[in-house]
Amino acid sequence: MKCDRCRRSEPVYFREYEGRSLCKRCFLQTIEKRAREEIRRYGGISGKKVLVAVSGGKDSNAALYILWKIAKRSRAELQAISIDEGIKGYRKKSLTKAEELCESLGIEHQVISFKEEIGVTMDQISELGSPCTYCGVLRRKLLNEYALKGGFDFVATGHNLDDEAQSILMNLMRGNIKRLLREENPKNGLVPRIKPLRLVPEEEVVMYSEFRGIPYYQGECPYVEMAFRKRIRDFLREMKKESPGVLFNLVRSWEKVRNLKSKPDIKLNKCEICGSPTSREICKACELMDIISLEFT
Ligand code: SF4
Ligand code: ZN
Ligand code: ZN
Repeated sequence: MKCDRCRRSEPVYFREYEGRSLCKRCFLQTIEKRAREEIRRYGGISGKKVLVAVSGGKDSNAALYILWKIAKRSRAELQAISIDEGIKGYRKKSLTKAEELCESLGIEHQVISFKEEIGVTMDQISELGSPCTYCGVLRRKLLNEYALKGGFDFVATGHNLDDEAQSILMNLMRGNIKRLLREENPKNGLVPRIKPLRLVPEEEVVMYSEFRGIPYYQGECPYVEMAFRKRIRDFLREMKKESPGVLFNLVRSWEKVRNLKSKPDIKLNKCEICGSPTSREICKACELMDIISLEFT
């Protein structure tokens, strides 16, 4: 069997949502291509100053690595930043991996902490309940302030497809439409964000990191168990097993809805078979009846 993309090499991975097998080289190329396209949506980083938020986990380390590859050719200026929230037994270990990668790539790495910036650690804040809400909001704020002060054009983060789908679903379920819309809006004192891995599924980020030999920390934050996000994550993981394209569908559908200027004028046709109103040429009922009659007659 050959790779379905280059038709030369041995495949190492079957990409279920595309229904094709890829060799290592093609796999890596498609991931990097997706990242470049994502960055292009923001006009590219050529000649720009980019602050990359790294935690030392697989996603942000992979994002930093890809940005470094892109920056080499485009005269972009990269700086890495880590936020030490003060989570015992977890954050210090992950930051070691962030530091290790930055050093090997020759990227300046800055660490700022909750303790120094706001006077308390996440371990203290966690006593108030819902730690992730505090953690996420405060981290965002610190990142944004740092980027504003330093005159950065972009803040880059490691969010992958799974994270993106989770955020959309969480915000929809909580009725946080404004927040969803604001998140995507680069104006109003928010330094624009880029997420190079936004359309790369979590398991492919892991593979990418393994293939490229990118160091990362595998542990998980002890507070993740308390997060609403975790329940959404587990649910989406189950869904993904059943139908591999669900996360892409969720993210792309939301994008379409977000970009609507007004309610679309959906013209209805008459089904060519039964005459019922339908947005297609043949209505869904007729399509299903077709399958039924094939099976049962
Ligand atoms: Fe912060 Fe929650 Fe993530 Fe832990 S799981 S780092 S508390 S957002
Ligand atoms: Zn190939
Ligand atoms: Zn019909």
